[in-house]
Amino acid sequence: MNRELLLGLAKKYDSPLYVYDTEKIKNQYNRITSAFSKVKNVKINYAVKALSNINILKVFKNLHSGLDTVSIQEVKLGLLAGFNPIDIIYTPNGVSLKEIEDVAKLGVQINIDNLSILELFGQKHPEIPVCIRINPHIMAGGNSNISVGHIDSKFGISIHQVPHILRVVENTGMHINGIHMHTGSDILDVDTFLMASEILFDVAKQFKEIDFIDFGSGFKVPYKEGDISTNIEDLGKQLTKRFNNFCKDYGKDLTLMFEPGKFLVSEAGCFLAKVNVIKQTTSTVFAGIDSGFNHLIRPMLYNSYHHIENLSNPKGRERFYSIVGYICETDTFGSNRRIHEIREEDILCFYNAGAYCYSMASNYNSRYRPAEVMMHEGKDYLIRKRETFDDIIKNQELVI
Ligand SMILES: *Cc1c(COP(=O)(O)O)cnc(C)c1O
Repeated sequence: MNRELLLGLAKKYDSPLYVYDTEKIKNQYNRITSAFSKVKNVKINYAVKALSNINILKVFKNLHSGLDTVSIQEVKLGLLAGFNPIDIIYTPNGVSLKEIEDVAKLGVQINIDNLSILELFGQKHPEIPVCIRINPHIMAGGNSNISVGHIDSKFGISIHQVPHILRVVENTGMHINGIHMHTGSDILDVDTFLMASEILFDVAKQFKEIDFIDFGSGFKVPYKEGDISTNIEDLGKQLTKRFNNFCKDYGKDLTLMFEPGKFLVSEAGCFLAKVNVIKQTTSTVFAGIDSGFNHLIRPMLYNSYHHIENLSNPKGRERFYSIVGYICETDTFGSNRRIHEIREEDILCFYNAGAYCYSMASNYNSRYRPAEVMMHEGKDYLIRKRETFDDIIKNQELVI
């Protein structure tokens, strides 16, 4: 999406604004499927929590993707977008047995990540096949908050507890149809991924009736020039060989699954905000925008990097700025950024704003959440209206 297009959208729809490019989503999706084209059965389940607008889900449906969901509400969004229940996998953590049963009733593939629920579910519903989320205890992920496969993590059932899983399966007569792992976001290297995969194969061969192995996600995308990202093509080559060999040993063509969120939508999104004020202090120049961590929390939450550009002054002299939001506590998008001279009312663009940006937005400071626009086949569509004051008060009861 070029500068003129984005500036035009900011003018047409006002700011702050999220813009998504479906062409980029399609390219990323095709990169994964091409990398694994030599595996007979491959299924990509897009992780809904990254960006959950129904129109984006429909884009994935048209690509023949499935969905990875973590709540019954995400399952319902997927069904609303037209997905078949069998194309949805539900991978919750720490939810009630009741919610898991409700999702199972909808016909969605259940993925269980703790022994206590496995035992209860197996006793009550031995006829419903379930997948098991294994924790391979691999330290992976860019930030401790997004590494979920290590020994102290709350996710998955430990590989050391496989004998316990087998005993539950035997006692309940339940049917395990898949083995799953998801070790974290921003896994850098293919080798770590392959190491975890070997562990998963070891577990999988102990279950006699599986149909699929789900390798989760964690693919890293570049945030700035020169950044390392997961070499998906190399991973494809190496994992394909191992997976196909495993299927031969197992005696069945299993389905290879992935469930990426960030890889598929991060780079497809831009966040546009307008500069309200320039403030010189003794130590820096602040550019304060008409947004804050209520709209894009990743820099404050994970210390993550979003490249920032001044769309309004591409030829301006480069200067150093701290870009800050309007929230009344520390609210920094980037410090010491070299950016073309910023003037009040200029439009700034934040890149990599497709994943975990709008989906984590809130009404903090009683602000409205932004609008979302989708660029699709050369046209712009408003896919979510900007909130209004009614949205702020709609669930509040006046009682005194
Ligand atoms: C969040 C999540 C994903 C997606 O992770 P990305 O890093 O965005 O690719 C996949 N699987 C599960 C179970 C998740 O919770």
